[in-house]
Amino acid sequence: MKKKLAKIGLHTEADLLLHLPLRYEDETRIVTLGRGPWADAVQVEVIVRSAEIQMRPRRQLVVHATDASGSEHELTLRFFSFYPNQQAVFAPGAKIRAFGEVRHGFFGLEMVHPRFHAVAEDEPLPEGLTPIYPTTAGVSNNALRKLIGNALKYGDLADTLSEALRAQFELPEFARCLRFLHAPPAGTPQLPLENRGHPAWRRMKFDEVLAQQLSLRRAYLARREQGAPVLQAEGLLAGRLLAQLPFGLTGAQRRAVEEILRDLAAPHPMQRLLQGDVGAGKTIVAALAACQAIEAGWQAAFMAPTEILAEQHYLKLRAWLEPLGVRVAWLSGSLKSKAKREQLAATAAEAQLVVGTHALIQDGVDFAKLGLAIVDEQHRFGVAQRLALRNKGNNPHQLMMSATPIPRTLAMSYYADLDVTVLDELPPGRTPIRTRLVADSRRDDVVAFVRKLVAEGRQAYWVCPLIEESETLQLQTAEETYAQLLADLPELTVGLVHGRLKAAEKQAVMAAFAAGEIQVLVATTVIEVGVDVPNASLMVIEHAERFGLSQLHQLRGRVGRGQYESSCVLIYAGPLGEIARQRLKIIFEHTDGFEIARQDLQLRGPGEFVGSRQSGVPLLRYADLEADADLIEAARELAENLLRDDLAAAERHLRRWLGTREELLKS
Ligand code: ADP
Ligand code: MG
Repeated sequence: MKKKLAKIGLHTEADLLLHLPLRYEDETRIVTLGRGPWADAVQVEVIVRSAEIQMRPRRQLVVHATDASGSEHELTLRFFSFYPNQQAVFAPGAKIRAFGEVRHGFFGLEMVHPRFHAVAEDEPLPEGLTPIYPTTAGVSNNALRKLIGNALKYGDLADTLSEALRAQFELPEFARCLRFLHAPPAGTPQLPLENRGHPAWRRMKFDEVLAQQLSLRRAYLARREQGAPVLQAEGLLAGRLLAQLPFGLTGAQRRAVEEILRDLAAPHPMQRLLQGDVGAGKTIVAALAACQAIEAGWQAAFMAPTEILAEQHYLKLRAWLEPLGVRVAWLSGSLKSKAKREQLAATAAEAQLVVGTHALIQDGVDFAKLGLAIVDEQHRFGVAQRLALRNKGNNPHQLMMSATPIPRTLAMSYYADLDVTVLDELPPGRTPIRTRLVADSRRDDVVAFVRKLVAEGRQAYWVCPLIEESETLQLQTAEETYAQLLADLPELTVGLVHGRLKAAEKQAVMAAFAAGEIQVLVATTVIEVGVDVPNASLMVIEHAERFGLSQLHQLRGRVGRGQYESSCVLIYAGPLGEIARQRLKIIFEHTDGFEIARQDLQLRGPGEFVGSRQSGVPLLRYADLEADADLIEAARELAENLLRDDLAAAERHLRRWLGTREELLKS
């Protein structure tokens, strides 16, 4: 039993207490058969006449019974899976209460797989609603109810929040809320319990969010306590880099750089997330941060999630910094062993900036003096990977970057262990991207449009349908699309890039596209993040209805990067499902990443959104970040107060809510 309970995260008494009902069933009443039909599940009481195991049409336990509540109606109970001596429970004459949907079957009224129990002669009906708990095979709801009932009787229900705090945040008392949710008193309406709008639910959600905030903020504060290299410099290197750029920084970039440089000069490690929409110009901000680390005599590392993106960063950073005398090293999984040895040796010695993929965090990579760890597209990495990069240095500063703009409440919740800087301004001179929706019957028009654009000297991306189920199928479609476009556009140079190509092949294709030698680049979503070719002014996405909103937004962000008018053509194939239609509508109507993200959150919920690998994710079971946004701000405020004024209360609260689970979060 212990093992089975552990499987659903129930290790301690507190875990049991906080295992809250999924929903409720109304077993306070017994209906009389024949009075139906009932839309929902109901409870009946019947006397068993006989029970048998039938083999046809499939193996099942069939129980014939008669209504015990007065009508003469007969009822058949069917079980397609049952435990070995279940038949014995249904001895002739036994009185059974069964809860489920009553259907009109071929042989009259029947219930399939009802919840049931044998009742004693004058067993009373429960007075309140029956809680139904999430559970696992081998742990019945009855067993859970008994365990939780005991925990309610003997367990520790002391409030972790003082009366004054409860009054301040308008929260009802913990013990009362908990008892109420596990055993709602007679007459409690079912709806506010099930949609979790009841004040008792609010208290539980608040406590849960508070635990998340306490845990993440405590980790944040603990890390601040540790020393970090003081990266102080006059800014000569950064100044020289800025002087040679063909553009000036936007106001948002300047503010971000200032904030970051201030962090770097402090004696505790920076833990900052730089958020900015696609094309907002995060790379130069990171480069300027690296300049400060380098000028202060330390190394900077720059890690990106894909080979294509990392390579592109490497080329760009080298072009920017090598002329200034900075030594840049490059590490990726595809390096030949001799080159790799050289780059590893440089990393361990004279290199000042090391750019690469996951290769940066492998064993055997030693940094001479890592002072700043930059992670691009950080949501593509797991907690452990970000930690691994940090561990390559002695408590280096960390700069995380993300082009997935996430709504404020979500950021406050999941990124409570980070400081967040937002680049809320795009570089000037960007021509807005025109988005068009085109039915796939008009594909020829799109091909003609590509021809016209290329004649004007521009380039185009053509993204192949996404096939999530099978990478092989995806590849096949990419090759078909490529062949088709070769045939359609014989006078143009068409290239193909996809995830199965060897790194060197990928690099060659991307370099040819960047150099303008390839005019139309057929691609899978490998080009989703970061790729930057300003002369490309058209993004065609086939079967756009299969892509998620953030993917569409990222892909669209590949164009509109130069001075040319750009467009994004979304080819779709009907009939469209409701969600797909909504997604296309949102991407058509909006270009602002934050607005798209906000609508995406409504469409999909937060779990899908930040990815399960963020450190705060395993903590929230009950709170809904969209619906309960107001709770987050209050809980954040209280968490700060408690960590400052009442550590003992913070500890008590964390112990109750996280217990053993906090281990999941160590980052
Ligand atoms: P992202 O935030 O998506 O990583 P990048 O750093 O790749 O964006 O920048 C996108 C493009 O904008 C690059 O070509 C970059 O050189 C250019 N860029 C960045 N900042 C500015 C600016 N202030 N003015 C003009 N162009 C800029
Ligand atoms: Mg980028």
